Amino acid sequence: MKAVAVFPESKEVKLVEHDEPNISSPTEVKLRVLEVGVCGTDKEICAFEYGTPPAGSPYLLLGHESLAEVVETGAAVSRVKRGDLVVISVRRPCPHEPCVACRMGRQDFCFTGDFTERGIKEEHGYMTGFVVDDERYMNVVPAHLREVGVLVEPLTIAEKALTQVWQVQQRLPWECAPTKSVGAKTNAQQASAPAPPRVQEGSQSGHAVSCHRALVLGAGPVGLLGAMALVVAGFETHVYSREAATSEKAQLVESFGAKYLSAETHAVERLAEQIGGIDLVYEAVGASSLAFEVMKYLDTNGVFVFTGVPGRKAPVAVDTDLLMRNLVLRNQVVFGTVNAGRDAFEAAIRDLEVFHTRWPQTVNSLITSRVPIEEYRDLLLGKAGGIKNVIKLA
Ligand SMILES: [Zn+2]
Ligand SMILES: [Zn+2]
Repeated sequence: MKAVAVFPESKEVKLVEHDEPNISSPTEVKLRVLEVGVCGTDKEICAFEYGTPPAGSPYLLLGHESLAEVVETGAAVSRVKRGDLVVISVRRPCPHEPCVACRMGRQDFCFTGDFTERGIKEEHGYMTGFVVDDERYMNVVPAHLREVGVLVEPLTIAEKALTQVWQVQQRLPWECAPTKSVGAKTNAQQASAPAPPRVQEGSQSGHAVSCHRALVLGAGPVGLLGAMALVVAGFETHVYSREAATSEKAQLVESFGAKYLSAETHAVERLAEQIGGIDLVYEAVGASSLAFEVMKYLDTNGVFVFTGVPGRKAPVAVDTDLLMRNLVLRNQVVFGTVNAGRDAFEAAIRDLEVFHTRWPQTVNSLITSRVPIEEYRDLLLGKAGGIKNVIKLA
């Protein structure tokens, strides 16, 4: 079967003929890959910045944002059946017994760094015809999400972040949880937590009781999907990005009920005032100097979430006294988040369903192009524009 392969040693990216995998244990599942999304990680691997082939292989098959169909199941498989649409998770546990995270199936919190990642680190990815993996890594997607299911994996970043935001804000003895979407299952933590008194936003002196004003930095796929998840979770959401206020990006943001703020016309110093205070920053741009500049304007009891991974550049000056004073005197929390566990995949599937119901055109428009595998070059090595570009395999 054809596959897109990266050869880090010889610094080549090319199509290869790769042997079709077969089920070798009773809990494995064979999948026909339907679509694979391309993101910055893939492009960085194709620029040989990182990306490691499996032991003994000269190449790494690329691709980690999947949508696939179950074609065969091992004898003991119970979570999926033939014909199901699934999205496969990316990270696999490290082998070290003391790593409690991996031992609990939470390799997204792996302590040792010796995890593997399909399509990224020591495991082949999904940019090929068929893949085999254990059923525990599969997440079933409803059939009617066939056209947008490839967005599940990039959406898990926001879902894992939101779960943590909610966990952090449980410190506040009033309701600050994201108001999860209608029809969404209540997650276990929500179910077991004591019901805090609800504060009606707007019914009191405005500002003082709010905790739902969010600012998203960046309008790429991670930023846009994050902004949609924040809107669904009941946040008054603003997206700050480079594109002009008249751009298609700005229209897209407004189409799902968020407000667009262009960096061309809005200075960072004025953002908090324009928004009416910032309770949550969801950073999805990977620009550290902008992020730390925005951090100065985070409100009391606010949370700042980093998801970007900037390249190392020259150090920049940051007003550390001011930031530290704010962190302490305003009870702020700053955290970074990477990868995702099963709960985030499940939340992403539920939210994607909500997006698809509320804003069908907007969700579809996040996928800019679908190209056959032979045209991988434009997406991985060229300057393919737009939002999410997808390789269509079946
Ligand atoms: Zn990705
Ligand atoms: Zn581990």
